[in-house]
Amino acid sequence: MVGHSNYIPGMNDVLIVGGGLAGLAAAVALADAGLKVQLLESRPRLGGRASSFEDSSTGDVIDNCQHVTMGCCTNFWHFCRVTGLQSAFRREPFLTFVGPPDPTGQSAPDFCRFEAAKFPVASAPFHLSSTFAGLSYLSNQDRFAITCGLLALVSDRPQADDRRSFADWLRFNQQPASTIERFWDIVLVSALSESLDRISYASARKVFVDGFLANRAGWEVWLPTVPLDALYSDLLHPWLTDRGVDVQLKTGVDRLIEDGDRIRAVELRNSEQLTARQFVLAVPHHRVLDLLPDSLRHQSPIADIARLESAPIASVHLWFDRPITFLPHAVLVGRLSQWVFNRSSTTGTESSALRPNPGSKSSGAKAAVSPLSCYYQVVISNARELATRPHSEVVAEIVAELKAVWPWANDAQLQHSRVVVEHHAVFSPLPGSDEVRPPQQSPISNLQFAGDWTRTGWPATMEGAVRSGFLAAENVLNQLGHTQRWLQPDLPIEWPLRLVLR
Ligand SMILES: Cc1cc2nc3c(=O)[nH]c(=O)nc-3n(C[C@H](O)[C@H](O)[C@H](O)COP(=O)(O)OP(=O)(O)OC[C@H]3O[C@@H](n4cnc5c(N)ncnc54)[C@H](O)[C@@H]3O)c2cc1C
Repeated sequence: MVGHSNYIPGMNDVLIVGGGLAGLAAAVALADAGLKVQLLESRPRLGGRASSFEDSSTGDVIDNCQHVTMGCCTNFWHFCRVTGLQSAFRREPFLTFVGPPDPTGQSAPDFCRFEAAKFPVASAPFHLSSTFAGLSYLSNQDRFAITCGLLALVSDRPQADDRRSFADWLRFNQQPASTIERFWDIVLVSALSESLDRISYASARKVFVDGFLANRAGWEVWLPTVPLDALYSDLLHPWLTDRGVDVQLKTGVDRLIEDGDRIRAVELRNSEQLTARQFVLAVPHHRVLDLLPDSLRHQSPIADIARLESAPIASVHLWFDRPITFLPHAVLVGRLSQWVFNRSSTTGTESSALRPNPGSKSSGAKAAVSPLSCYYQVVISNARELATRPHSEVVAEIVAELKAVWPWANDAQLQHSRVVVEHHAVFSPLPGSDEVRPPQQSPISNLQFAGDWTRTGWPATMEGAVRSGFLAAENVLNQLGHTQRWLQPDLPIEWPLRLVLR
């Protein structure tokens, strides 16, 4: 193709290994530039960790886990806009938080709406101030501590060699145990899937600044309206093939083959070799070293990738004979269940008849609707302890929690359940972990790394994966004489925070 020497007709310009979001984002950017791209994915479907599978008992295609994205994920949104996936997402107008259980069992839990102030004058971070006041399960002491904590967080910029965990920082800033339990822990465990002593201060600060404080759109939560497989296999796969990308599923790569100072080919598990001018290795961090040539695998800083640790996320899939709640989702505070997503076909259409009255503190209870399929997903991040327990015990505890939150559904019978634990769901954002994340440009000029684990400044998220794919693609494009830029800027920081940061 254009812009490089030694062109051999028929040879791929770029070979991408891995069909997760990082590899897909790289493929979109490179195909858009008219390059001849081949993408190899070992599994039978695209999407990597953000994908679906067929539940053999129900025949339903279900996601390995509900994936949530936020307004601050500017690169993921760009990826969706360019490829037309954006229309398969819906914005949650507000979040519902359910306060912790009453230890005496006497009173029902608080249902609280978390939403931005409506007036356009409420610039970030003031757009959420009334909302914190509305979280009725927080005490005044909690609210005061959160306000002081957020102010301290904004003014305390992490240094390059910052080794503080967020637990250290909370202790230093004298945050009360109840505030940690009911606020800091709830937000961060969901966002980063680790305990607070295993989260670096810098990662925690990024979640709050980008997600809540910098821009009023940052916190907005978006959910796919179709299974993840429909996004990547049904919509994106044809988009790529229409642009000439040769997508090969069930094609596992065994190793990369070096020739002098370049990568010459990949060897597949069936021993076939495929050549290209440029390579993008977009596999998860715990697989990457196995595929690299010896010269690179043992070389620092690449060998340090082995120091990245993984954190598990569990999703518990529950099918009931009748609805448990009509809320589209709920965040449960102080329980094993962290997020509950209503994936029933009854809510998939967002029928207004089924939605709670926006003006009320509704618990989402509504009786007279016949369900088509009452399917719920409960997500538990930082699931190390859960992963050691029998699945039946976990399901029983979660069902009991749901029935305590929505007692009107006490008679609902569980028809089927499934527990999925992704042991390598994300890399752990430990203090110092950013130092071992390599840039996309590897020490070999025609080899790029892509993946949420590469140096993106973001934690392990769909946004981080897409950023890495765009950055890898930009490097390839640059080497082949193209000038396109794909990386999108962050949301602008609104004036109140800009003043403080200055
Ligand atoms: C349970 C769970 C819940 C999550 N929730 C969220 C969420 O709500 N929001 C969010 O933003 N992020 C979430 N994430 C994180 C998000 O899914 C990941 O950060 C992102 O999908 C990573 O994309 P990736 O392309 O970097 O890696 P992957 O998705 O892991 O893609 C790598 C691909 O490489 C393939 N591969 C591996 N080895 C080979 C080989 N030898 N040859 C060929 N192909 C190979 C794999 O099959 C895979 O498809 C969640 C992750 C999990 C597991």
